[in-house]
Amino acid sequence: MRDLPIFLDMRGRPAVVVGGGVVAARRAELLVRSGARVTVFARDLGDEFFDLRASPDFRHAPRDPTPADFAGSALCFIATEDGPLTEAARAMAKAAGALVNVADRPKMCDFIMPSIVDRSPLVIAVSTGGASPILGRMLKARLETMIPAAYGRLAGLMSGLRGRVAAAIAEPVLRRRFWETVLEGPIAEAALAGNEEAASAHLVREIERWGARRDAPEGEVYLVGAGPGDPDLVTFRALRLMQKADVVLYDRLTDERVMALVRREAERIYVGKRPDNHEVPQEEISALLVRLAKQGKRVLRLKGGDPFMFGRGGEEIETLAEHGVPFQVCPGVTAAIGASAYAGIPLTHRDHAQACVFVTGHGKDGRIDLDWPALLQPRQTVAIYMGLRNLEALTSEFIARGASPDLPAAIVDNATRPNQRVVVGSLGTLAAKARAAELRGPSIVIIGTVVSLRDRLEWYAPGAGAIAPPLETPARAAGAE
Ligand code: SAH
Repeated sequence: MRDLPIFLDMRGRPAVVVGGGVVAARRAELLVRSGARVTVFARDLGDEFFDLRASPDFRHAPRDPTPADFAGSALCFIATEDGPLTEAARAMAKAAGALVNVADRPKMCDFIMPSIVDRSPLVIAVSTGGASPILGRMLKARLETMIPAAYGRLAGLMSGLRGRVAAAIAEPVLRRRFWETVLEGPIAEAALAGNEEAASAHLVREIERWGARRDAPEGEVYLVGAGPGDPDLVTFRALRLMQKADVVLYDRLTDERVMALVRREAERIYVGKRPDNHEVPQEEISALLVRLAKQGKRVLRLKGGDPFMFGRGGEEIETLAEHGVPFQVCPGVTAAIGASAYAGIPLTHRDHAQACVFVTGHGKDGRIDLDWPALLQPRQTVAIYMGLRNLEALTSEFIARGASPDLPAAIVDNATRPNQRVVVGSLGTLAAKARAAELRGPSIVIIGTVVSLRDRLEWYAPGAGAIAPPLETPARAAGAE
């Protein structure tokens, strides 16, 4: 994160604006709207200040500021063309301990101004960390159209009753459920429709009803497939469940960009490989899911790819069913499908394959136990999960059982991620090439003539120009967005 996003309480606090033009007027207006006591230093004020002059919190000083003028000010906005004045005002403000923003001079700024969607008390501030103020403004415009003005009313209604809710429903989990129910139901509908009185009355009744509840909130488990890595591949439903969770169980296959989508307050429990390199036993994870749900929590079990595809998701919820814990399952894009798309290798194709089988190459005690005759069918693609470690043995076995050493084969490492790498070869060469490339996994092996299509269908080249690489050192284009 380039900047820390916070909302400052400016009510009754002094703030300084230096400059009398349009930008200065906008800053002064914003400050006045947030309740600050604003002094604007400028020889002349532009027309844009006209409405502001009537505000009791607005003061105009038709001169340059002196050090004493900054005493007690938390913030100082400078928007003047006068270079020496800018330098002097900035130095004085800093000496007084104020944070400074100089319009259009990002290097001189302690903070930047976000693009703002104001549905007070609901306020949304957007920043691109200076990377692209235009993008910030575009997003603001999108949000403006998406968020009805009535949301402000709804937030106002809720804010007025917050104290009462806190007193009536002391249990925090139950209280959160209460607000979620309010926001998803008829109360919110009434408020959004402008029917504030009905909404308010209904809300008061609901507070009483929930306040009288003595039952513990019921826990639930969400078994959610998070896809192979690219957070864009998370489904809407997965995102909704991720945002509802009280606690999340994840393992090493969960991409950190996906983890960032989970409700920030949710407790995080890592159930992947331990320091001693041993996986947490399945029974232990299942037992933990049951225990957490029985505490009334909404437990998110995040799985890489799809939870039912080589993910032991089935085993985890079997235990839940035995204990009568409610659960839901949300599918995800499984690794082979992600790898296929992002490597430009269709798993089926009219000219190549009418079938595709997904298998695991993970052998018990080094022995790979697969139904070889079924895998060696012509016009069929084989996608192998967990095949990297046994790649040599796997490809040799294919050849030993009669497959041509020239049969195209590929390995897609870290599919859909910025560090995706694809190694293409044949059954005879793939293992050596993969070793030379020092792939670390996770990776998917794809075997079949469809692999030859990649020559023409390759499109995803992270960092190589086909897709713009992420901006690493954003040149801050302006001090304001
Ligand atoms: N449930 C998961 C699979 C879990 S098994 C799914 O549906 O995708 C773990 C194996 O999945 C890894 O060994 C690897 O073969 C594969 N895998 C998971 N994420 C991957 C990725 N981003 N790129 C390539 N393979 C991946």
